[in-house]
Amino acid sequence: MTQPAKTYAVNEIFYSLQGEGFHTGTPAVFLRLSGCNRRCAFCDTDFSAATPMTAAAIAEACAAFPARHIVVTGGEPLLQLDDALVSALKACGFFIQVETNGSMPAPAGVDWVTCSPKEPPYAIDRINELKIVYQGQDVEATASLFAAQLEKGSSRSGVPPRLYLQPCSGLNTAETVAYILGHPCWRLSLQTHKLINIQ
Ligand code: SF4
Repeated sequence: MTQPAKTYAVNEIFYSLQGEGFHTGTPAVFLRLSGCNRRCAFCDTDFSAATPMTAAAIAEACAAFPARHIVVTGGEPLLQLDDALVSALKACGFFIQVETNGSMPAPAGVDWVTCSPKEPPYAIDRINELKIVYQGQDVEATASLFAAQLEKGSSRSGVPPRLYLQPCSGLNTAETVAYILGHPCWRLSLQTHKLINIQ
């Protein structure tokens, strides 16, 4: 008897522009997977709803859009994203970006890891961009925690490690800009999709 195909809990699939970080402005398919292993007070994402879909069905739905950049997000996408789903997306030609809280390692086939670290412990193995929601905390200490992962991500992608600070819900933009001006290894990340009122 054949086993039923594995399903993933999908919150939503939509097509838009990447609004934040290094790939800002890039047309991208967004695959939001349900569930998270953290409970951040400032979380503005409803990732609870879930539709079970196979890897093949997810890949088919995502490939219906014209772009071949996919952002796998959540919740915490690495709770579910595995080699089988990565392979199905790769077979459709996708460049795979994940947005993770840093709590889990990424499958080998993922092309770009965006880490917005929340509560420890951390187990992410490589990072291409570190994106911190700035609330006046010691971001240099946070960045130093991930120095090895940033180096590994950079050596894989050939792109120097990127460090971004993002205002918290747009409320402390001036404070964030002031910090970056004084510490120019950081870059400003804005939630541009909210500024132009798209998803
Ligand atoms: S890790 Fe991200 S998705 Fe999960 S609760 Fe925190 S802000 Fe929300």
